[in-house]
Amino acid sequence: MVKRIAIIHHDKCHPTECGNYLCAKLCPVNRTDKECITPHPISNKARIDELLCTGCGICPKRCPFQAIEIINLPEALNKPPIHRYGENQFELFSLPSPILNKVTGLLGRNGIGKSTAFNILTGTIKPNLGDYQNQADFKEIIAQFKGTELQTILNKIKDQQLTLSYKPQQVDLIPKKFQGTVEQLLKKVDQKGKIKEIAKELELTLILNSLITEISGGELQRVAIAAATLKEANLYLYDEPSSYLDIKQRINVSKFIRSLANEETAVMVVEHDLIVFDYMTDLINIMYGQPACYGVVSGLKSTREGINTFLSGYLKEENIRFRSYPIKFEKVQSKQKEQLIPLTSWENISKKLGQFKLQAETGELYKNEIVGILGENGIGKTSFIKILAGLIKPDEGNINQQIKVAYKPQYLETESDQIVADFLKQAIQNYSNQLINPLELDKLFTKKLSQLSGGELQKVSIAHCLSQEADLFLLDEPSAYLDVEQRLSISKVIKNLTEERDLTVLVVDHDLMFLDYLSDRLIVFQGTPAKSGFLRGPFPMEEGMNLFLSGLNISLRRDSTSRRPRINKLGSVKDREQKRDNRLYYS
Ligand code: SF4
Ligand code: SF4
Repeated sequence: MVKRIAIIHHDKCHPTECGNYLCAKLCPVNRTDKECITPHPISNKARIDELLCTGCGICPKRCPFQAIEIINLPEALNKPPIHRYGENQFELFSLPSPILNKVTGLLGRNGIGKSTAFNILTGTIKPNLGDYQNQADFKEIIAQFKGTELQTILNKIKDQQLTLSYKPQQVDLIPKKFQGTVEQLLKKVDQKGKIKEIAKELELTLILNSLITEISGGELQRVAIAAATLKEANLYLYDEPSSYLDIKQRINVSKFIRSLANEETAVMVVEHDLIVFDYMTDLINIMYGQPACYGVVSGLKSTREGINTFLSGYLKEENIRFRSYPIKFEKVQSKQKEQLIPLTSWENISKKLGQFKLQAETGELYKNEIVGILGENGIGKTSFIKILAGLIKPDEGNINQQIKVAYKPQYLETESDQIVADFLKQAIQNYSNQLINPLELDKLFTKKLSQLSGGELQKVSIAHCLSQEADLFLLDEPSAYLDVEQRLSISKVIKNLTEERDLTVLVVDHDLMFLDYLSDRLIVFQGTPAKSGFLRGPFPMEEGMNLFLSGLNISLRRDSTSRRPRINKLGSVKDREQKRDNRLYYS
């Protein structure tokens, strides 16, 4: 028998506004005088009896607020979950497996139960095996996972032997809670007496006296990583440690996190930059399911096999297809010269902005292309775009065609009370099929911008930018807070819209796989942040990547199965060969 779950999103269920329990009036089971959909006696929200529901699909389609989801679970899940929050609420199957001396990665979509899993690991949530009215006995829970990697972990949770230190995902919320200096914050949590060493490893020494409210996103990220590491624990968990970091810092942080795993310490990482995730972890658990409805944790896999399985969308051992299509990395076909229509070009631009000097050699942008931009933060990327848009006049050099620019900034406005549907008015009117539907933004229409999660706000801001009437679109770090699936769906949306509207899109990002997947050409910024920035390019992908990687001392190969880019181990045969042949980016 198929196990069916019914989810009611309580925040979206408004019985007095839908016509007094419209779902109950329409339910064919209710019409036979059975009580399938009834009002909850306390919350007054709709409740669904999962045993009576036949899965006809009428109520999720007809609820005007999209408050209901009816899901047939995969056959392999014909077992109780490890935890369910309540009637018609989210449920989680199984748990990730931290292992001493290893870095274990968790790979999966946002909203799929990672926080629930962490809360169970730390003992904050006591799992109930799906029986939300009664607390399950730990012996019963352990018996259910007997013989699996989880048995040991559950025993440790039972005996309260797991102490966890956690680096949260949204580091930009830290300045709202703490106003002192970096050193003051670190001192508050320092149980190891190692502020100096850790600050040095994470390149924070020079900002120890800076105010938390005044440091950049990348600095804040490294402060948060330092703070989590300074606490005594035997399980360290880093939730998206690469956001706001440039690639150099991502690699440095990866090495740092790897160095923490030892005989007494397990490390877990949630990360959506797949190249960094691959570099940082030894083993991975894949998480799949339906966001906000249910989540499943797969068994442990080696990192390489696990990422390839994730991209394929099919778990062989479990016989579960969790995505209807595989994600493939195809070689980018360079466009023929005769197909290229110029948009604008520049010649020997030079501009001094305070202590900072920006220089750009000769270059040209075409219609219908996506150009990736690589470079450290504070190196002149935004200033250059402002020059192209005519908002800043260069001291020297020419822009040959003034153009209209639409811009999605790196840091998004989180305080606005504007309703999403109003903010996206142009996108709804003109690009429903190209932006609203593929990004599933209609679900967010009634929310305020201030109520959105980091990932939701990112998608809304990208759609808002791309719906403007402009010649050139600049997306600054569009991948931040998006999970891997969302990064790929955003890439497809940008690619399709670029093609359809003959757009020119510049994408500044530090996720190399995202840029590899998305870009036709690359611009590389070199120099020293806050002092000097040199724009080079645009180049064909291979040439641009080679130039960029040469400054980082790393080389990338393509995985033989999935064709995804992977960082070569420093000094390995491949690394030495590729460096010798000056082919740091293998395409
Ligand atoms: Fe009304 Fe939808 Fe709530 Fe049912 S689930 S009571 S249709 S708002
Ligand atoms: Fe009733 Fe289930 Fe059909 Fe909804 S899906 S209308 S609860 S039978």
